Amino acid sequence: RIGTAALAVQVVGSNWPKPHYTLLVTGLCRFQILQLLKEKPYPVAEVEQLDRLEQFTNQPKSEEELGELSEQFYKYAVQLVEMLDMSVPAVAKLRRLLDNLPREALPDILTSIIRTSNQEKLQILDAVRLEERFKMTIPLLVRQIEGLKLLQKTRKPKQDDDKRVVAIRPNRRINHIPSAIEDEEEEEDHDDVVMLEKKIRTSSMSEQALKVCLKEMKRLKKMPQSMPEYALTRNYLELMVELPWNKSTKDRLEIRAARILLDNDHYAMEKLKKRVLEYLAVRQLKNNLKGPILCFVGPPGVGKTSVGRSIAKTLGREFHRIALGGVCDQSDIRGHRRTYVGSMPGRIINGLKTVGVNNPVFLLDEVDKLGKSLQGDPAAALLEVLDPEQNHSFTDHYLNVAFDLSQVLFIATANTTATIPPALLDRMEIIQVPGYTQEEKIEIAHRHLIPKQLEQHGLTPQQIQIPQVTTLDIITRYTREAGVRSLDRKLGAICRAVAVKVAEGQHKEAKPDRAEVGEGEDCKEHVTEDAKPESISDTADLALPPEMPILIDFHALKDILGPPLYEMEVSERLSQPGVAIGLAWTPLGGEIMFVEASRMEGEGQLTLTGQLGDVMKESAHLAISWLRSNAKRYQLTNASGSFDLLDNTDIHLHFPAGAVTKDGPSAGVTIVTCLASLFSGRLVCSDVAMTGEITLRGLVLPVGGIKDKVLAAHRAGLKRIILPRRNEKDLEEIAVNVRQDLTFVLASCLDEVLNAAFDGGFAVKPGVEHLSSKL
Ligand code: ADP
Repeated sequence: RIGTAALAVQVVGSNWPKPHYTLLVTGLCRFQILQLLKEKPYPVAEVEQLDRLEQFTNQPKSEEELGELSEQFYKYAVQLVEMLDMSVPAVAKLRRLLDNLPREALPDILTSIIRTSNQEKLQILDAVRLEERFKMTIPLLVRQIEGLKLLQKTRKPKQDDDKRVVAIRPNRRINHIPSAIEDEEEEEDHDDVVMLEKKIRTSSMSEQALKVCLKEMKRLKKMPQSMPEYALTRNYLELMVELPWNKSTKDRLEIRAARILLDNDHYAMEKLKKRVLEYLAVRQLKNNLKGPILCFVGPPGVGKTSVGRSIAKTLGREFHRIALGGVCDQSDIRGHRRTYVGSMPGRIINGLKTVGVNNPVFLLDEVDKLGKSLQGDPAAALLEVLDPEQNHSFTDHYLNVAFDLSQVLFIATANTTATIPPALLDRMEIIQVPGYTQEEKIEIAHRHLIPKQLEQHGLTPQQIQIPQVTTLDIITRYTREAGVRSLDRKLGAICRAVAVKVAEGQHKEAKPDRAEVGEGEDCKEHVTEDAKPESISDTADLALPPEMPILIDFHALKDILGPPLYEMEVSERLSQPGVAIGLAWTPLGGEIMFVEASRMEGEGQLTLTGQLGDVMKESAHLAISWLRSNAKRYQLTNASGSFDLLDNTDIHLHFPAGAVTKDGPSAGVTIVTCLASLFSGRLVCSDVAMTGEITLRGLVLPVGGIKDKVLAAHRAGLKRIILPRRNEKDLEEIAVNVRQDLTFVLASCLDEVLNAAFDGGFAVKPGVEHLSSKL
């Protein structure tokens, strides 16, 4: 029931690997507990202060005896301290303390310094009377002195050890609360360290790693626990033990099963699935293939990541995704050296620790978005990881020993190859994953996305019904994307809304509900406009019996998702001369682009806006030059009727959207068509889109990204597409149903382009050519 009142001065420690704190307190006095007031959350008690120093010194009756005792005690204390090495600052300080402190305080202080058991320390603490305390401490001092003498005799040359013992101990002298728990903890820690050592010895790490670990273990044992490095070293050793040096899962690979699994998980994407199966087949035939690293390149949301996951599933391997977007520090890949505070292993080693086997599938997501900074180039670090010739001895800076990555199957994904560093690109085999057609999206939605969303929202097909027309509506009017991610989100939004209805039990009264919606003015308009009134009455009727599903029709869609985000605006924007539709390729898939031109009085200057790159600017100059040289042939004149188109005229060309940087040669034909429309005053057909590079002679050269561009035109509802003739082969990749909806005009020169772009053709003035041939 006796304790020490103390003032907490400092608390240091860490929570890892397990809570370990050092508490610095200043002891004030002894106290006795009179009455415990409460125990939780912390004990509160009424206490009585037991020792007051002045009280003891003023006690006249025992003064003499005490004086003798304290003198004796002082002598022993001095003798003990003088046996130690005075050159150690802590010892010298202790010597000074002996003289400066009141004698009455000495027993407490010395007891905490000398080697005593916790039991003995507690006895001293319990000794309230000073006289008793002196009497009890003296034997302890004598024992320590004798011990030291003996030690000095037996280990003369090794005096250092004693110094160390005492040099460390004074640090703890203020720590007056000796408790059994402390001892227990120390023992527990010791046990942990022993266990760790055992684990290291029994683990299957490489010889080199084992050597390093044992060396670190030796250091760890000598370190006091309060040293920050203790935790660091321990973390390191624990990581080394946890790493899957030799642990792997057994590949189960059966091509037929793999094909079924891939087909079940993913609709369409035939080319990608074919290549993946080839890859897996080669792995099956030639065990342990040092094959190329596959890199899936395509717009977001086309299933690159999920194919990666399926591959892991077919192989029966663990899957781990490493997001590389925005990583600009090479230590993210390769780890920090252990000398830094807070150093960590890189993501590769961390991933291995997480999955716990050495042959997982690692998906390196977004390799095209690696950054670069002063902290080094992460792409360069990745080179070593991805090179099959090097990665069997990948050295993470934190581990500082080689780890064999050759069993890991790496798959990378990217939106574009343009920003992948060439050296990295060289290590990988690129597989293009183009965007989906509308039909494919509908199938994907009904086969995969809707069932998944239903499950996530706890709904059943008996509660909600999304017909294909609704899905098509979502695809065309609420999303504009190459992949299916927004479509998935919109379906999620619908499911949420339905979940609320179902949860409220409101769908049972769907009829009044529907009527209520109908009352809104917006909806009334649509009922008449949409010419699909039967679906509403359907819903109402269907909803009557409570167990019927909620049908998502156009009106429900509008209620849930709001008014449509995208409308077909093509024809409207082509209602004046000087506008043409081009096709552009972006990392997010294909897109249609309205190229606009206007002319005004001026000095023959060309203004280009829309953040264009150099190649695109050159295309614009090429287009103007070609038109100027062919103005007579086509009867193109400027405002004042002159065939010199730039005479007293300025031209402004704009490529929306203004904030997006654009470059590439493929807008050449569009610019020519747009300017031809401007100078001839004729409208370009509103359902025609085009792409192609031009030359000064008026030839049309092939360009890339045809499939994505055609899909974009199809999405936008265009009907005719003008392509370079040499791109004809690319059309084979396009799904038959898309091809059927579109007319392709293959052009090898600009005359053919202009002819196809204007209703009724764009005739060359007869006679002009005769004249020129005469010359
Ligand atoms: P990415 O990695 O290409 O950006 P994800 O792999 O994350 O795209 O795909 C987004 C979502 O679309 C996933 O939920 C995925 O299941 C789904 N998805 C994409 N393509 C298909 C497909 N062909 N079949 C089934 N689901 C698909």
